[in-house]
Amino acid sequence: MPSLPENCLFCRLVAEGDHVHAADGFVAIRDINPIAETHLLVLPARHVDTFREVDAFSDEEAGRMLRFVAETAQAAGLEDYKVLVNVGEGGGQTVFHLHWHVLGGRFDRGKLSHALALETA
Ligand code: AMP
Ligand code: ZN
Repeated sequence: MPSLPENCLFCRLVAEGDHVHAADGFVAIRDINPIAETHLLVLPARHVDTFREVDAFSDEEAGRMLRFVAETAQAAGLEDYKVLVNVGEGGGQTVFHLHWHVLGGRFDRGKLSHALALETA
């Protein structure tokens, strides 16, 4: 179920989390349950439930968000990596504050399958 911003875990982590990278209304944090050697999450500071509502961002903000994803990977020393967004419960989304997974290095295949909700797809 979509959560309200006032009790949203990621709104809280934007405000007081351990940010590995931050700029321009976006932050990157370490995933608490990494499925790859490097597993970061990029969060917009502003609460938007899912990627489905990407129209909530201006073209300028959306462009900055994409550049921030690339900067986060670069700052983490990644050259080759994956960028993943789970959209909606059926898409494997469990936290309803839009976020981009940045995944690099060796993968835990069991956890990857779980994170992609492949069992239920
Ligand atoms: P998703 O399934 O796409 O909604 O991704 C949610 C991600 O948030 C999962 O990979 C979780 O491991 C991660 N996560 C949940 N709680 C925390 C937390 N407190 N700090 C960092 N990452 C978290
Ligand atoms: Zn939120």
